[in-house]
Amino acid sequence: MNLTSKKCKICDVEKPLNKFGISRIKKDGTVSRKPICMSCKGKIYVKIRCLREGREYIPLTERRARVDVQIKSGTKQCSRCKILKPLDNFYRDKRCRAFGSYCKACCLIYGKENYKHKPHKIITEEMRLQRKLKQRQQTRERNKERYKNDKEYRNKYIIARSVYNTTVRKRRERYRRELTDQYLKNILQKIYSIRWSEFTPEILQELRTVISTRRLLRQLRKEI
Ligand SMILES: [Zn+2]
Ligand SMILES: [Zn+2]
Repeated sequence: MNLTSKKCKICDVEKPLNKFGISRIKKDGTVSRKPICMSCKGKIYVKIRCLREGREYIPLTERRARVDVQIKSGTKQCSRCKILKPLDNFYRDKRCRAFGSYCKACCLIYGKENYKHKPHKIITEEMRLQRKLKQRQQTRERNKERYKNDKEYRNKYIIARSVYNTTVRKRRERYRRELTDQYLKNILQKIYSIRWSEFTPEILQELRTVISTRRLLRQLRKEI
């Protein structure tokens, strides 16, 4: 196995490891990477976020054109306090250079309010992760001990591993090829941390079309 590069699950390109986000850092210092490269992640993320929040998806070029119109006029209406203010009263998006919909004064108030209502959310998220890591560590140690001392367990483990290597890997490859719901849900959960209750058929279909077109493009490029 090559440790300096990795294949992206969506675009199928072998890329250096630093093109993949970090999913977690293990205790021995090694870093495990996410299965999808950052360029693929960014391209799909905006669409998925719009679907989640029930907003209309506007392509980057159109958003840039709208910003140009705003710059010409020199003012913008805040969508919270409804006051028409000069453009330097709004924060700007780093990527598309768009102006925020709330003015700076409203952002300050709104941000604080938002935090006041949801501090528990942040804590539970962290606690959940910590608990998961601790549990995983405990079972790993327990199994290691058993593997050393229990001969029957050791034989069972070796058989199970060989079964995994043949059948499970094949099944996984089929899921990947056919883009089953299960496969897409896995991606959504891992990469975009979307909860199970938020999986709608539209989001799944969106991801499916994006992945299949990217794969098709990649194939066409190969043939040329
Ligand atoms: Zn990719
Ligand atoms: Zn405002």
